[in-house]
Amino acid sequence: NEYQMSFMDDRYDRMLYNRCGNSGLVLPAISLGAHETFGSYRDEDITRACLYRAFDLGITHFDLANNYGRPPGTAELIVGKILKSMPRDELIISSKAGYHMWEGPYGEWLSKKSLIASLDQSLKRLKLDYVDIFYAHRPDPQTPLEETMATLDLIVRQGKALYIGLSNFSGPQLEQAIQVRQRMNLCPITIDQQRYNLLDRGCEQDLFGHTERNGIGVIAFSPLAKGVLSDKYLGSQFPQDSRAFNVWGKKNLHEVSSRARLDKVQQLNLLAQQRGQTLAQMAIAWSLYHPAVTSVLIGASRVEQIEENVAALQNLEFSPLELNAINAICSS
Ligand code: NDP
Repeated sequence: NEYQMSFMDDRYDRMLYNRCGNSGLVLPAISLGAHETFGSYRDEDITRACLYRAFDLGITHFDLANNYGRPPGTAELIVGKILKSMPRDELIISSKAGYHMWEGPYGEWLSKKSLIASLDQSLKRLKLDYVDIFYAHRPDPQTPLEETMATLDLIVRQGKALYIGLSNFSGPQLEQAIQVRQRMNLCPITIDQQRYNLLDRGCEQDLFGHTERNGIGVIAFSPLAKGVLSDKYLGSQFPQDSRAFNVWGKKNLHEVSSRARLDKVQQLNLLAQQRGQTLAQMAIAWSLYHPAVTSVLIGASRVEQIEENVAALQNLEFSPLELNAINAICSS
């Protein structure tokens, strides 16, 4: 018998839950991912504290991928260890394959060989019999979509995943995948995972029309633009415990520190203060405001950030005036 943590009885009263498209799957409005943090610049103790606190706040969905962590796979190893002390049937765990994971021609992309091998590795690292959602992590220009979609269907039939999703597919690429799955009578695409935040609104033109028309849910990643949509980079120096300081190379650092970008962040920060929220909270509320979005997928470096971010749920409304002000800032 594994040791089981005990969690707060009122955890489900603290969160909103949204249905994912037309499916039976329900997701928390805020989900937690492991990319770059857990098994990377944040260790096992912090990961454990974050997962436990998140679950106590009603976050039932943790997002992973084969390649998360340093070295790749470490995030699944660490999270798998921690999940042993959590109630599996109250959790939605996702993983993905598609980005480079091991050497040679089978260690990336979306062939049948790569997807099956990668998911089997992920299940071993996570110490799970199945993941709840398995994603094709990025489109593959070489492998026929028919092969990829049939493999995702096979994975569901084998019981290694309950639902399938696509990530980083454009709207037209998603439509192609939907046509293939309809023509071949394969299991439905339940969810699309895409970047969507105040500084990156491409989904509004490119994707949401397609997901809404087809009854597919959206989980929006990087709602804080990896931390840029907070007040942490507005001072004269980047904080030493920030992701920019710890992880990013020059290119991304430049992206953060560009004057135009930080000017926008500064203005958004003032607007958030007027709403009685931190900028992180307003950014999360704003990403959730679009009706196409099922869940907002945050990252966290420590427990306090999760607490602050979940408190965004206390003000999810935007007045027309606020929305206009945000549009003006974002398009300037
Ligand atoms: P966010 O935009 O939420 O950035 C998270 C980072 O922002 C944290 O690690 C922390 O960084 C900082 N932060 C969080 N809360 C606060 C706060 N309240 N105040 C100040 N700073 C804060 O998301 P991520 O970019 O981390 O992505 C989230 C998840 O989305 C990933 O873990 C992954 O699961 C998924 N994802 C999927 C991708 C895909 O291709 N499918 C690509 C990228 C992400 P700091 O250390 O600086 O404090």
